[in-house]
Parts: sequence; C-alpha cells; structure tokens
Amino acid sequence: MPLTAQELMDMIRAIGQTLEENKAFLTELDSAIGDADHGINMAKGFHAVEEKLPDLTGKDAGTILKTVGMTLVSTVGGAAGPLYGTAFMRAGMAVGSKEVLDTRDLVRALEAAIQGIKQRGKAERGDKTMIDALEPAYEAIEKEIAAGKEAGAALAAGVAAAEAGVEYTKGIIARKGRASYLGERSIGHQDPGATSSYLILKTMAEFLSGRK
Ligand code: ADP
Ligand code: MG
Repeated sequence: MPLTAQELMDMIRAIGQTLEENKAFLTELDSAIGDADHGINMAKGFHAVEEKLPDLTGKDAGTILKTVGMTLVSTVGGAAGPLYGTAFMRAGMAVGSKEVLDTRDLVRALEAAIQGIKQRGKAERGDKTMIDALEPAYEAIEKEIAAGKEAGAALAAGVAAAEAGVEYTKGIIARKGRASYLGERSIGHQDPGATSSYLILKTMAEFLSGRK
C-alpha cells in the first residue's frame, strides 16, 4: 500500500490468472459436493472481467471494483458468481471515487465485501461456504493492520487464517448452497467456494508483498 487504480487492475488480472490455473482443481472439488462447475464459473467470470479492464484505464478504484462486480453478476451463473459479484460491488462502494487505496481502504473494502456476501447468501460461519475462509481472514487482517503491520504482511496472516478456514470446512455439514442437499455426506470434503476465496486472498497477498 498505497495501491493505485492501475495496480488494482493488475491485482484483479492476477486473481483471474490464479483462478484460471485452478479451474480444474476447483471444479473437481465442486464435483464431490456440488455440480462440478465452480472452477469453470470463476474462470469464465474473470475472463469476462479481463476483457472489460482495458476500458477502465484512468477510472477510479470504486468504478473499477463496481464494474468487476457487475461483470461477475452478469456473466456467472450459479451461486458463487452473484455472491462474488456483490462482494466486489460492495468493495467498490466502500472505497468510493478514490484513485489510490491505503490499508484502511483495504480493510473497509474487505469488510463491506463480506457483509455483502452474508446479506445476499444468508450464510454464517460454520455453514461450509466461502464465509468460513473470508471471515477469519478478515479478522486476522484487521487485527494485523490495527497493530501497525504493512498490508502485504497483514494479508499474509489473512491467508493463513483462510487456509485454516478451508481445512475447517472439511469437517462440517454444508448448510447453504447445493452442497447442503448432501447433508452428512458433505462431511470430508473441502468447500469449493472457501477454496476459491483462499486462492483470491493468497493472490492479493502475493501481489501486495511483491510490489515495492
Ligand atoms: P453453484 O453451487 O450454484 O453451482 P458454484 O459451484 O460456482 O455455484 O459455487 C459453489 C460455492 O458457492 C460453494 O462452495 C459455497 O462456498 C458458495 N456458496 C453457495 N451458497 C452460498 C451462500 N448462500 N452463501 C455463501 N456462499 C455460498
Ligand atoms: Mg457448482
């Protein structure tokens, strides 16, 4: 941090690349407890986002994030597209028309994104969804930044918390989304959406700590 609007777009491109690289893995996870499309959905959504990014050159961070969100909502079927879309739109609203983001903006954007997902999907922690990775990650990030840590280091703590959250989803019953139809049979499998959330945060951490 600070993160310019141009760097924000590069970070979004990096997220798209990670999701493309993990397309088969995420789809395989979804084949165990869903309908085998999570990786396909995420890669498709971020491919559409990538095509929009050139038009956003020179725009502020809020506009970029809102456009990413709207693109995900409109191009991705299934639960995760609208949920991640809402997250990016809320993040965009939280940062407003700023052109350079600081650590406070990052915390605010993450908080708004998670609130948006919870409002739209009505999932709480322990329901075996992306919230199980995102919420503990947010708490860790917020704590590190409040303690004066730099964004890259704070994000790294968030990634560790998200990874633990993904691990936690293996042992619990799904209560939201398609996986909930399986009831107890969903136990033993890690949640695809929690996994994509972890991968997104990991890419953000790597991006932020790789920059000087
Ligand atoms: P679909 O389930 O419609 O096929 P995806 O496969 O793309 O959509 O996404 C599945 C993921 O979406 C799940 O692994 C879970 O993390 C997340 N998810 C599903 N429903 C909810 C919800 N109500 N709240 C939060 N996350 C959810
Ligand atoms: Mg699915």
